[in-house]
Parts: sequence; structure tokens; C-alpha cells
Amino acid sequence: MSPFTRKSPETGTMEHNRTVDMLRRAQAYGYAVGAYNCYNDDGVMAVIRAAEASKSPAIIQLFPWTLNFQGPHFIRWVVEYAHSASVPIAVHLDHCIEPEDVRRALELPFDSIMIDASRLDPEANIAECARIVEEANARGIAIEAELGRIEGGEDGLPLTDLESILTNPGFAREFVDRTGVQLLAPSFGNIHGSYGPLGPKAYWRLDVLKDLNENIPSIPLVLHGTTAVSDVLFRETIKRGVHKINLNRTVRDDYSRFVAANAGKLELTALKEQAVEVHAKSIERLMDVLGSSGRA
Ligand SMILES: [Zn+2]
Repeated sequence: MSPFTRKSPETGTMEHNRTVDMLRRAQAYGYAVGAYNCYNDDGVMAVIRAAEASKSPAIIQLFPWTLNFQGPHFIRWVVEYAHSASVPIAVHLDHCIEPEDVRRALELPFDSIMIDASRLDPEANIAECARIVEEANARGIAIEAELGRIEGGEDGLPLTDLESILTNPGFAREFVDRTGVQLLAPSFGNIHGSYGPLGPKAYWRLDVLKDLNENIPSIPLVLHGTTAVSDVLFRETIKRGVHKINLNRTVRDDYSRFVAANAGKLELTALKEQAVEVHAKSIERLMDVLGSSGRA
């Protein structure tokens, strides 16, 4: 069997799943692993170079957009590259919502996939999640589920009543027990996109995070919605059970600015080399903030 048709881990079971293994270590030693959203090969190279330079574990995170636009060959390349790095790097598919995308993703060598567990009513959600977890785990793929609703509208500001979408800690325990998910992405006031002038601190309910962690201490929590989150606030979430932190524009804005300023001026080879370097530096800074540097 080709190494790319086998799932990570090569045994085809959940023993030595890369995502689970690195998050267990992060739990044991009190740090978080960054999950860096990548949209192109520059991003993938930047994460791998940053992780190797910082001796840090890392997660390369793709969206279903990559599944559909760049396709399965690109994903296999990402996994092959990530898994041959000198430090542990997992490849995760984020926000996999459409059933057709889930089905296709399970055929690919992802280490973990995030599914949405908030679209159906609770009983139907549990049944559907349990079914996906069983199928994914049999292929050696871990599952992250979103519980509650992580909002983010046009302007990113939460328009709904936040109380109604917070993850209920009691239900989270029942959900984890009955579905067997490996990671949980809670809603505690976090949103995708901009938090506006008040910043995340105005919306975040760290008490909800703490309750969740106490109810499901063995499950690493995942932080979504990290735009403009301070270094101090990242560390506050790690103290409350967050061990996977999704990072998107936080580590890519400098790269985008560099490319915008230099495209058409530098040779493409020089532009690419320097842009990857800029991107990697932003990632290395976050690896220090999250405490994952030196942990590989
Ligand atoms: Zn997210």
C-alpha cells in the first residue's frame, strides 16, 4: 500500500495519531500547539521551517476550500512534507461542514478533521458525530467537534445573544462520552473575524472555559477566533485547558503586506524566498508565546 493511501498513523488505528499525541504532551507540560491556517505552499513551507527552527510541534491547518480548489494531490503533498519534517507536524482539516466534504476528507491522509456538531438537534448531532468519529478513528484520523456556535458575521461582531450560544459544560461531558470525539472547540464568547474596538476580552467568558475544562479534563480544548488576541490572553486560555490554538491572520498579515509591497518589484524567486521567511518569523513568535518552542 502506498504511504499516501494509509492514514496517519500507519497502523490505521488511533494509536500514535499525531494530533492527539502532540496535544497530550501539551496538556502534560502546560503549553499549546498552534494550528496555522495555510492557503498555499508558502504557508506550508513557513510552518515547517518555523517549527524546525523553533524545535516546536505544529499543526498545518487547511480548509475545505483547499480540498475543493487545490484538490487531493495538493493535500497529499502537504501531508508528505509535514510528516517528513524533523519535528512533529500534523495536518488538520478545519471547519469541515458539508457531508460531502467529510466523506472526501476521510479518504485523505489527514491526522485530524474538525466537524460541526451544532447544526442538527442535540440527539441527531450526537448520533451523527458518533458515526463520523467511529469511521474516522478506524482510519487513524482524530475528530474535533464544534459545540455551541462560534459566531462571526460580516463584520465579525457577535450580533446574537451570547448566552444562548455558549457551550454548556454539562452537555459537553455527555457529548464527549457519547461521541468519543478527541478534541472540542467550545463557544465561550469567541468569534471569527474582528472583535471590534472592545477586543476579545469584552466578550470572552473565561469562567465558561474553566467549567468546561473541569467537566472534561482529558479533552484538549481548541481556541477559534484569535484575531487581535493578546499574548497574555492566549496564556489565560492555556491555563484553562486550551491546547490547540488556531491562528490565521495573526501570523499571516506581515506576509501579506510584504507580498503586496514587493510583488512585481522582486524576481518571483526572491519574492517567494523572502515572503516565506517573513511568514516563518511571525509563526516563530507565536510558538514562543504559546510555549511550544523547544518542545518537539
Ligand atoms: Zn474556526
